[in-house]
This record gives sequence, C-alpha cells and structure tokens, in this order.
Amino acid sequence: FLPHLIASMDEVEETYIMVKPDGVQRGLVGEIISRFEKKGFKLTGLKLFQCPKELAEEHYKDLQAKPFFPKLIQYITSGPVVCMAWEGVGVVASARKLIGATNPLQAEPGTIRGDLAVQTGRNVIHGSDSPENGKREIGLWFKEGEVCSWAPVQEPWLRE
Ligand code: UDP
Ligand code: MG
Repeated sequence: FLPHLIASMDEVEETYIMVKPDGVQRGLVGEIISRFEKKGFKLTGLKLFQCPKELAEEHYKDLQAKPFFPKLIQYITSGPVVCMAWEGVGVVASARKLIGATNPLQAEPGTIRGDLAVQTGRNVIHGSDSPENGKREIGLWFKEGEVCSWAPVQEPWLRE
C-alpha cells in the first residue's frame, strides 16, 4: 500500500503528445486528438510542425546510444508532426495506456497503436513517460505563449 502513489492519482499533470509523421501522412490526426478529447483531458497546446534534426536529437537524447537512433531521427524529421500539450489528473500514465505498447503488434486492441499501427518504427504517436519528462518535452517543443491556460465548461461534469 503506497499512499504517495494514490495521492499522485489526484495530481494535475501535463504530458507531451505528438502525432508522428506517419500519423499525419495517414490522416490519423483527427482520430488521435479525438481519443484524448473524449477521455476528458484538456488540450493546452497544438501545432503542425516540421521538426529540425537538432530538436529530434534533443527530444530522444536518452536513446542516443541505441542502434535504431539514426533511423528514429530520420523518421521523426521525415515530415510534419502534430505537437500537443495535454493536461489532466493522471494524464501522463493514462495517455501511455491510451497509446499502448511501443511495438504496435504487442499493443492491446483499443489502444491507438493497437488499432492503428503495425511496426515499432512506424508507431504513429509519442507520449511522455513521466510528469518530469512531460514538462521537459513541452518546454522543448513549445515556445513561450504557445501553451494556453483555460477552463473548459465541461470540467464540473468530469470531476467531482
Ligand atoms: N523505436 C524504434 N525501435 C526500437 C525501439 C524504439 O524504432 O527498437 C522508436 C519508436 O518510434 C519509439 C521511439 O523509438 O516510439 C522511442 O522509444 P521508447 O522506448 O521511448 O518508446 P515509447 O516511449 O515511444 O513507447
Ligand atoms: Mg519513450
């Protein structure tokens, strides 16, 4: 029994979600945004963006030593991506669940990767893996003033 974990389920977090170039090319942007909207999270940042190589390398710097790193950078910079910031209680872990496993063939049906992709190297979406990385990545991909603070009218119908 871990009281701090239970407390964290009540914490408002931010996560960086990105539709990768294959998701944009395949026309999956609306479908993907819709899943997060329907779940009840709050969109606070949104833009279509051609990612420069340096930013892709910074974003994935923890994977620098991996053999697939050059291909990953090539993939992420191969066309425009859709950058998003989402806010909500427990949004980081919940978004990872909505997204599904890294390898789409292992991702459960009902998840974004489970429903919409087949290969790890073309897995259509990114989601931050911790609240710290959520903040770090939103800071990397969005400029000052691009993330909005606002109060959706549906809020009282989503949270007691
Ligand atoms: N990736 C890859 N081959 C691998 C592992 C990862 O091409 O064997 C790519 C894939 O696009 C993945 C990204 O690198 O989404 C980041 O890897 P990570 O392990 O952080 O997976 P994620 O957090 O995206 O599920
Ligand atoms: Mg990751």
